[in-house]
Amino acid sequence: MSLIPHLINGELVTDNGRSADVFNPSTGQPIHKVPLASRETMQLAIDAAKAAFPAWRNTPPAKRAQVMFRFKQLLEQNEARISQLISEEHGKTLEDAAGELKRGIENVEFACAAPEILKGEYSRNVGPNIDAWSDFQPLGVVAGITPFNFPAMVPLWMYPLAIVCGNCFILKPSERDPSSTLLIAQLLLEAGLPKGVMNVVHGDKSAVDALIEAPEVKALSFVGSTPIAEYIYAEGTKRGKRVQALGGAKNHAVLMPDADLNNAVNALMGAAYGSCGERCMAISVAVCVGDQVADALVAKLVPQIKALKIGAGTNCGLDMGPLVTGQARDKVSGYVDDGVAAGATLVVDGRGLSVAGHEEGFFLGGCLFDNVTPEMRIYKEEIFGPVLCVVRVNSLEEAMQLINDHEYGNGTCIFTRDGEAARLFCDEIEVGMVGVNVPLPVPVAYHSFGGWKRSLFGDLHAYGPDGVRFYTRRKAITQRWPQRASHEASQFAFPSL
Ligand code: NAD
Repeated sequence: MSLIPHLINGELVTDNGRSADVFNPSTGQPIHKVPLASRETMQLAIDAAKAAFPAWRNTPPAKRAQVMFRFKQLLEQNEARISQLISEEHGKTLEDAAGELKRGIENVEFACAAPEILKGEYSRNVGPNIDAWSDFQPLGVVAGITPFNFPAMVPLWMYPLAIVCGNCFILKPSERDPSSTLLIAQLLLEAGLPKGVMNVVHGDKSAVDALIEAPEVKALSFVGSTPIAEYIYAEGTKRGKRVQALGGAKNHAVLMPDADLNNAVNALMGAAYGSCGERCMAISVAVCVGDQVADALVAKLVPQIKALKIGAGTNCGLDMGPLVTGQARDKVSGYVDDGVAAGATLVVDGRGLSVAGHEEGFFLGGCLFDNVTPEMRIYKEEIFGPVLCVVRVNSLEEAMQLINDHEYGNGTCIFTRDGEAARLFCDEIEVGMVGVNVPLPVPVAYHSFGGWKRSLFGDLHAYGPDGVRFYTRRKAITQRWPQRASHEASQFAFPSL
């Protein structure tokens, strides 16, 4: 089994310290080992990033953007290779892996606009012979800590923008599927990035703690589960760092009686079962307004769930692969047991699925619960698997109250033909990303991504305009060039026009 290296100061670095197994979830077998960096190894990356910063911050934004243009080309040329690596270690289908890469590339395209987005603001003659401007300056060394479920896209939310803004970056990817993340970072170096500007260090809690505690690291971007997001936000901000920490989710889709049900069912199938439900924007609750809608929805979903094509993600033409680890499969399966015990109606049971030729893989079939109620654990907690819960309510107001009372507020959507209902939903729902007849309302790269409530800790969302704000600090400069003949007297009152 090969040991995956770190990428520090432009070099692939082997590490003989602690390590963990990386599995192919379709076969259930370990295929690589990933090092779990010590504090000393992390410090090497921090030192490299710090050393690279003075030259990189002074590199013209247009030159930085040129690296991103070449990076985009390399990503596109290597799409098949990257998708294969994602699929091998994560388990998602090749088509899904290619889709996540495309959404990641959008962020590189946004970063190509560096000269435009970093232009700053200028005012001439704010006072006699005085001009003023605001500059967006980089922070220095910044770091990202990313989850397993989007090994390509989520890191690409972070470092292209951070780097193009003039920062140097350390990425701590998920230890469960690190190979595609590493390959992508190597392509960035191939695109012409100076050594030390981008570093990848694998690891677990101790590597993350080393980043939190290092005074050289000025900002942390985190995406993962809510308990870890909260921990990183608390520990990072306590040390004076900027932190944006995106956490878990429970995303509801509201189905109104006037919805185009066939479209809604097709949309829900992809949003609930795509990527085996391992998406932070996956729809895991369908809130049906009225029993008629619920009965019709369940009747249409059942045959489609039973017909899901499930197998090794690296085979083409499938709907769903396995879950990422045996532990994840057992956890999701445990939630299904819990829902049954709590009295929900298990309409489709995906437990115990065996895929021919892949009997040791971490597979679970699609599951559907009806008559789920708000006090059940399967409703309250994030399951992160192919399990959809149907909750029955009597009105849009009741549906919205349910969503607003939930601890998470990442994404939500409404299926309706009624503009008034849709408008009320968009105005009043306490969720960060909202879809109207759009099941996965993941914002494009020139908007920003982020949830509300316990789905995000911090003030600024990820990527897009908020990302630029997060990775830069403002400097307001007021400059006076007096005319030679004029000498102003001292002024002791607060300066004003
Ligand atoms: P996770 O929280 O287990 O891990 C995320 C990262 O944190 C990994 O790099 C991991 O190594 C590190 N980590 C784990 N334990 C740690 C600890 N005790 N201290 C410090 N660092 C630690 O999450 P995951 O299982 O990889 O990803 C799934 C979760 O991510 C789900 O909850 C999902 O909703 C969430 N997610 C959220 C978004 C979003 O945008 N809100 C996007 C993707 C995933």
